Amino acid sequence: MNNNILSQRVQSVEPSVTLSIASVAAELKAAGEDVISLSVGEPDFHTPSHIKQAGIDAINNNQTKYTAVDGIPTLKQAIINKFKNDNDLDYTPSQILVSSGGKQSFYNLCQATINPADEVIIPAPYWVSYPPMVQLASGVPVIVQTNMADDFKITPQQLEEAITNKTKLFVINSPSNPTGFVYNKQELKNLSEVLLKYPKILIATDDMYEHIQWTGDKFVNILNAEPKLYDRVMILNGVSKAYAMTGWRIGYCAGDKNIIKAMKKVQSQSTSNPCTISQMASISALAGDQKCVNEMNKEFIKRADLMNSLLNQIDGVKCNKADGTFYAFANCSGLIQKLNLKNDVELSSWILKEAQVAIVPGTAFGCDNHLRFSFATDEATLTKAIDKIKQAIANKTRA
Ligand code: GLU
Repeated sequence: MNNNILSQRVQSVEPSVTLSIASVAAELKAAGEDVISLSVGEPDFHTPSHIKQAGIDAINNNQTKYTAVDGIPTLKQAIINKFKNDNDLDYTPSQILVSSGGKQSFYNLCQATINPADEVIIPAPYWVSYPPMVQLASGVPVIVQTNMADDFKITPQQLEEAITNKTKLFVINSPSNPTGFVYNKQELKNLSEVLLKYPKILIATDDMYEHIQWTGDKFVNILNAEPKLYDRVMILNGVSKAYAMTGWRIGYCAGDKNIIKAMKKVQSQSTSNPCTISQMASISALAGDQKCVNEMNKEFIKRADLMNSLLNQIDGVKCNKADGTFYAFANCSGLIQKLNLKNDVELSSWILKEAQVAIVPGTAFGCDNHLRFSFATDEATLTKAIDKIKQAIANKTRA
């Protein structure tokens, strides 16, 4: 069958690189290769016991039927309480939509708000799936390159220069996947000053890594910096990263009730409610003891230090210590040159072949010459992975 059978829409995008590399690594492992995957962003910790128990109880109590499309009321209330307690933000149930993961939240938002040719400003490096989701909604991603010197954060001037009369949405992801950097309150305030001048632009803030940061400051959303944006900010979050619940697939969105209603319509005509059992487990995650979040965070901080020092020991690799997440985003141009390779895509393939370590090339995040190392794995494995890379480089440069 030729490709003409496929829609132009689907042909305009590529499969998710993070997921493809993770699956190549899993296949190699299954075939008996000693591959270490630092590709996909997935905590190695198990879902905490009290959360798993809530899922098991849901099954035993026969909570296995459909729920309201937008989520079980008790879960929506737990989300509302979370926003009040953690973020000092007020929402009502009609402003909340629970979905099957943070990905579906952003997908619903694009489908509900973007018209053909509408532009969406996305600072690069960006999380792999934002531009394809915009394209699947017939929108145009407008990519703004940021610099390592600015900790990969968009400046107010860059934002203003990217705005046109077609701009529909501006995406902020802090702490950022893949860079790990966090916008502080003043930086958000400065961006909001630009946004206040353009009242038609919506703002999507992806706060998925809210709890995984070590700046010492309380997490801030742009709404904490500028409450006047309240009607235009759609907050995306979920339980996947903070509670090691990636496979449970629960994300949520909060914002303007008309946009939430439109997103709910998209969801009602596609997937319906997110998994009932996962919703019950998420109530326990959000309303239960938060000690588990701090415990995992402590480990991530140690790993961030370790990764930063290990990566900077490799000749030709440069990596600034970030503020959060479980990713190190390293400039590898020196190494690419040293190994006589063309680019980061070739470098990541070379490392997989020669060192059996799976890493995602920066190009997948709109930033070439870089690699994203996920350190959601234990310190011994991280050390072993970097040793293998160093050994492969030594073998090649000696040869
Ligand atoms: N968000 C994670 C990552 O960036 C999970 C994979 C994905 O959905 O992209 O690795």
